[in-house]
Amino acid sequence: MKCYLCNGEMKEELVTITRYRKGSYYLLEDVPAMVCEQCGEKWFSMKTVVNMDELMEKPLDSEERFITVPVRKFSSG
Ligand SMILES: [Zn+2]
Repeated sequence: MKCYLCNGEMKEELVTITRYRKGSYYLLEDVPAMVCEQCGEKWFSMKTVVNMDELMEKPLDSEERFITVPVRKFSSG
């Protein structure tokens, strides 16, 4: 499989990504993705996208946790 952006080689990896759903950000760990070795573009299968959506609907289990992240306003100069 080749990257649709740069035509680089893609290989399967487990990645951590952020998703936004219904007013909340989620940090999702160990998500299977095809990752471009050249530009870093990630591609998710339709099944994985559906599974991610389902996961965000479920209540947290005991091994999952909340984290606090800083929100910073960027200003140049
Ligand atoms: Zn690429």
